[in-house]
Amino acid sequence: MTDSVDVVIVGAGAAGLSAALTLGRARREVVVVDGGEPRNGVAAHSHGVLTRDGTPPLEFLRLAREEVERYGVRIVPARAVAARAADGFEVELDDGGTLRSRQLLIATGLVDELPDTPGVAELWGSGTVVCPYCDGWEVRDQPIAVLGTGHGSVHHAHMARQWSPEVTLLTDDGAMTIDDFEAEEFRLRGILVESAAVERIDGDGDSVEVSFRDGRRQPFRKLFVLPRYRQQDGLLRSLGAEVEQAKVGERVKTGTTGGTTVLGLWAAGNVVDPGALVPVAMGAGAAAAVAINAHLVGRDLERAVADAHR
Ligand SMILES: Cc1cc2nc3c(=O)[nH]c(=O)nc-3n(C[C@H](O)[C@H](O)[C@H](O)COP(=O)(O)OP(=O)(O)OC[C@H]3O[C@@H](n4cnc5c(N)ncnc54)[C@H](O)[C@@H]3O)c2cc1C
Repeated sequence: MTDSVDVVIVGAGAAGLSAALTLGRARREVVVVDGGEPRNGVAAHSHGVLTRDGTPPLEFLRLAREEVERYGVRIVPARAVAARAADGFEVELDDGGTLRSRQLLIATGLVDELPDTPGVAELWGSGTVVCPYCDGWEVRDQPIAVLGTGHGSVHHAHMARQWSPEVTLLTDDGAMTIDDFEAEEFRLRGILVESAAVERIDGDGDSVEVSFRDGRRQPFRKLFVLPRYRQQDGLLRSLGAEVEQAKVGERVKTGTTGGTTVLGLWAAGNVVDPGALVPVAMGAGAAAAVAINAHLVGRDLERAVADAHR
């Protein structure tokens, strides 16, 4: 077991590394533990990140690691498998190590659970994507499709329409249903609705081809798919952080700077905010870092006063 550090951060994506940068520069002793599977690691380019628009996500993270290491932040390639509160926190790693810290920030992101339609997972991040802000501009004004996975796909299709007048919503033989009112709204915005069962998706990086079970095939530039988000919040829950009802499902409850209901336990990025794009996750990490440092300054002061009166 190592000596206790100021902050352990679990997760070295945009949220975790942004927090590490601010805390490192605040001269805090920080260890970041990372399992090495950033959510957008499958994508060739990351968009919408000011001054880094179009940078490959893995290159972005390489640069970010380089930056935080300049301030003495240590990055440990391992998965955190358990955590407990023990005069601060103890985090167990899958390599057998244990880390101790005064404060703990969880920035473990989420896993996209994809529909099992053949081709969707294989093309994830290239032909099949989730986020029009990330991939919409590149296919603007071209034929795009939205694969219906549930009622959230109604909004997804209307979003896609912002980038192209040629949008087709694939309801995939009842994988999602739309009522007459929604059908009329789609008609008014020129969004086509195709109800045939989808058999598989093929693609070559530049476009996708949807094969329907009735034998037809149709090409599109991109297929937008709304996955089910599975936040990787097991460590937060195991430490007793309260959860609350979210728009879809539940989320661990946090304040505006990422504080959970457990003192000293923080969360930032997709683990608590599935909609957070890279700049938002970075902002959440930075906000949490500032709050964590302020909290530690408070504890340092209390300790100094207590020592003086001993
Ligand atoms: C295909 C795709 C393309 C995208 N493109 C863009 C884009 O162009 N622009 C944009 O702004 N956003 C994009 N996004 C969204 C982007 O992925 C998220 O905004 C971003 O990843 C959130 O950062 P994060 O730090 O919260 O999580 P992540 O980046 O997922 O980082 C979490 C890290 O925690 C690690 N981890 C998880 N559990 C543990 C554990 N127990 N122990 C140790 N480590 C652990 C993971 O391995 C991972 O490295 C895209 C998403 C997808 C799916």
